[in-house]
Amino acid sequence: MFVYADNAATTAMSKTAVDAMLPAMHELYGNPSSLHRKGRDANLALIRARETVAQCLNAEPREIYFTGCGTESDNWAITEAARLGAERGKRHIISDPIEHHAVLHTLKKLEKQGFQVTYLPVYEDGVVRLEDLEKALREDTCLVTIMFSNNEIGTVQPIREIGALCRERGILFHTDAVQAVGHIPVDVEADNIDMLSLSGHKFHAPKGVGALYCKKSIRLRNFIEGGAQERDKRGGTEAIPAILAMAAALEESCAHLEENRVKVCAMRDKLIAGLSRIPNSRCNGSPDHRAPGIVSFCFEGIEGESLLLRLDLAGICASSGSACTSGSLDPSHVLLALGMPHEIAHGSLRLSLCEYNTMAEVDYILEQVPQVVRELRQMSPVWSRMLETMPDPYR
Ligand SMILES: *Cc1c(COP(=O)(O)O)cnc(C)c1O
Repeated sequence: MFVYADNAATTAMSKTAVDAMLPAMHELYGNPSSLHRKGRDANLALIRARETVAQCLNAEPREIYFTGCGTESDNWAITEAARLGAERGKRHIISDPIEHHAVLHTLKKLEKQGFQVTYLPVYEDGVVRLEDLEKALREDTCLVTIMFSNNEIGTVQPIREIGALCRERGILFHTDAVQAVGHIPVDVEADNIDMLSLSGHKFHAPKGVGALYCKKSIRLRNFIEGGAQERDKRGGTEAIPAILAMAAALEESCAHLEENRVKVCAMRDKLIAGLSRIPNSRCNGSPDHRAPGIVSFCFEGIEGESLLLRLDLAGICASSGSACTSGSLDPSHVLLALGMPHEIAHGSLRLSLCEYNTMAEVDYILEQVPQVVRELRQMSPVWSRMLETMPDPYR
């Protein structure tokens, strides 16, 4: 059996996205800035795509900027919010330690430029507390950036409440919603969001296209200098085929949000229940505030990398945490921020599902993982050392 369970890293393109993309590649090759008919056709399609994306987020079309990826959207939003803050002498930012590197590395850069960043604790469950945010807010706070839903452990933050608190104090609120958009309801008005990043390839659109929502009252400036595209705010000829595919994929995801959520949650819950039966295992992240598709576990006494390779041989594509850090031997910054000891964080496994997965696949995963974990433990010196201090759970 083959199972793709790495949807938090990226998703397969949907038929809808491919169907929207192909004609755009064949026919709509005009530059949307050109005045002739080919240009006008492309521009019209671009206008429609922007309307679709705006509608899915409950935003206005002029508040949507197409970008090259989720990373660019994060970089742009945070850099601009910081610049606007600095203009008013405000150089304090609030975030948390389990953000994606697109956010964390941008914040590091700003710290080098003299900004101060407070990282709110996320506790063992991976959820920020409003009391902590309230205490961290200062006179000179210019930005709060907290992700909607975490890509490694799937925790969903209290975005609406965070947004309300920021709005009350007149502080900009940005959220990296790359793992949320297309998966759970996102409404920039109701959720009190000023700036939001999204990325197409996390909801069945192609890679290399994203968007930034920026509230119209914010005086956004360019991150990428160039032509007058994107209302003069983001130079570069628009990637029409990718943008049209993203709009189509988002529209489809939003139309089936609840139905997909129910399906994916049922698979997720079965996975969690099954994997919890493995001795000396723990499920990472809050059980209650959790995105539909993401399951994260640590298994004591084994290496996550060996587990992944063995699962790959069994036809299961999974991840040890974030795709961006795999390849490095450091344990995930997210698991460490939850207070997990290094040696346990090393034995991590992330399975991320989408509506294309099936219960039969979940059953197959639940057949394979306990077996592979047991075999790896039999060869593990760490596990045999553990057995000196506890009864063997496999006996
Ligand atoms: C994937 C991801 C990103 C980066 O998006 P790209 O389009 O790959 O640049 C940012 N934040 C989160 C939470 C992600 O999961």
